[in-house]
Amino acid sequence: DLVVVGSANADLVVGVERRPGAGQTVLGSDLAVHPGGKGANQAVAAARLGARTALLARIGDDAHGRMLLDVQRRAGVDTAGVLVGGAPTGVALIVVDPSGDNSIVVSPGANARLGPGDVRAAGAMLRAARVVSLQLEIPLESVAETVRTAAAVDTRVVLNPSPPAPLPDDVLAACDPLVVNEHEAKALLAGDPASDDDSPEAWAEALLARGPRSVVVTLGAAGALVARADGGAGTVTVPSPAVRAVDTTGAGDAFTGALAWRLGAGDDLETAVRFAVRVGAAAVKRTGAQQSFPTLDELEDR
Ligand code: ADP
Repeated sequence: DLVVVGSANADLVVGVERRPGAGQTVLGSDLAVHPGGKGANQAVAAARLGARTALLARIGDDAHGRMLLDVQRRAGVDTAGVLVGGAPTGVALIVVDPSGDNSIVVSPGANARLGPGDVRAAGAMLRAARVVSLQLEIPLESVAETVRTAAAVDTRVVLNPSPPAPLPDDVLAACDPLVVNEHEAKALLAGDPASDDDSPEAWAEALLARGPRSVVVTLGAAGALVARADGGAGTVTVPSPAVRAVDTTGAGDAFTGALAWRLGAGDDLETAVRFAVRVGAAAVKRTGAQQSFPTLDELEDR
């Protein structure tokens, strides 16, 4: 019912006393390897809640790829659309110092080889989906091909433009919603007077003017804001439950995966956002990204 098209990465994390400068070598903690990538994160978030979810992604024929596949399968994701080979699995090399500041190198690897041809080959899967959810950690042409395939059969498109990049008009026009955090909203609006404004309402309105059918701006602990092209009544702010935040990594992906699932299940946008803020809030209560995402039982327990 939900197809996530996007990235899968292994996050390789080492703690250090001080992050190394040019030419420096430092000793660090034992290596931690975590499943990541925004596409893989969204798929796990939705599947763990009980959504019928498939992932279209590309990984390498290597140990990181096998680890990612294993985590997807254990979460219940249909991995028949996960392609293998062409380059090593994408990795993020992350060093974290005691204050929590990090330095990150991303090697997109196989993610960069998920091409428009791969998307065309998965056309049947995309056309059968109720909702397709995308991010921008794969080539933009592949995102555009996915959106065109989906839009042609009225499969709903959810897009989180991260990392932010200029989007073709037809991609923007299909988004229902475009999901952005504050940083992504400002980056997409660079040069627009609204980006100097500190008002998420102004960002949402300015983003709506670019053509998407709806916009959701996530606001961290403050929840999320919903604006619809056909809304008339302006924007609606949906508060997030108050929680003790331990680690916000992946909160946005948990939010978007949950949102895409609920939209596919027939919720209206505001109702789906009311559910998604609870999932985002649950995800910040535990460390890590995918390992912090709640099941439906855990969500209802709190
Ligand atoms: P991103 O992870 O993309 O930066 P946000 O920080 O806006 O996105 O978080 C996404 C969602 O996760 C929010 O809309 C909210 O529901 C939830 N969330 C994030 N941080 C907190 C927090 N400190 N307390 C409660 N909920 C949070």
